[in-house]
Amino acid sequence: MLKGKTALVTGSTSGIGLAIARALAREGVALMLHGLGDSAELERLRASLAAEFDVAVRLHGADLMESGQAARLVSETEAIFGRVDILINNAGIQFVSPVEDLPPERWSAIQSVNLGAVFGAIRAAVPGMKRRRSGRIINLASAHGLVASPFKSAYVAAKHGLVGLTKAVALELAEAEVTCNAICPGYVRTPLVEQQIENQAAVHGLPRDRVIREVILAAQPTKRFIEVEEVAALAVFLCGDQARSITGAALPIDGGWTAR
Ligand code: NAD
Repeated sequence: MLKGKTALVTGSTSGIGLAIARALAREGVALMLHGLGDSAELERLRASLAAEFDVAVRLHGADLMESGQAARLVSETEAIFGRVDILINNAGIQFVSPVEDLPPERWSAIQSVNLGAVFGAIRAAVPGMKRRRSGRIINLASAHGLVASPFKSAYVAAKHGLVGLTKAVALELAEAEVTCNAICPGYVRTPLVEQQIENQAAVHGLPRDRVIREVILAAQPTKRFIEVEEVAALAVFLCGDQARSITGAALPIDGGWTAR
């Protein structure tokens, strides 16, 4: 029963984070929506979620690239709602490049958003969760938290680090009734991926279905995208009482990718 709980979902103005926010709102969870973007558009999104699911929804635009912003986001969420029962660290960025060409500032940005901000948010949310002896922390890692691909060194390093952080935090909080898990998706159908299909089709001169099978989903045995709603359903399950003994796990939802 999640009704009446409060969740902070970072990067929930788009893609997987938005699907998780919607799925939690459907369960009656009050939400801190968070992300970057056009403020009028984001305000429309906030209002539509609040109206559709009849829950309190607030919006925060902290830039997680800046150190200290994740902690501020958590403390302001606690100030508004009184507590953060569920912390979903979802915001993430990617950059694809051979390692020798990877600009050091891109490396730093990816470590800051994908790993540093997660540490900052967890550090700020844990005292309240421990006091209440209840909490759920879910980190959106990736299949790239478990295995690597070439040209994604910064992202792979950050996501492997995130899986390690997840395990350490889970052990520390195990007796406090707070769980900490990582979800490790393969390729999920998001607007960003849709755009990649179009771009790759043009680059390779291949039709869409061949680009999907042979280029984008080459490593994903099911040869179909994971839908954002599938990831959201797993997150909702991990938030529930039935998942109280699942902690420190890095759960693949990757169409068999990491079974290879
Ligand atoms: P997306 O690009 O659709 O959304 C990213 C969200 O993060 C947005 O709300 C954006 O505003 C926010 N964000 C980005 N940079 C930020 C910053 N500096 N400060 C604050 N917010 C910021 O991404 P997505 O595809 O839904 O991915 C969500 C998470 O899932 C990421 O951590 C990503 O690494 C992971 N993931 C995605 C896939 C996939 O195929 N899409 C696969 C595996 C893992």
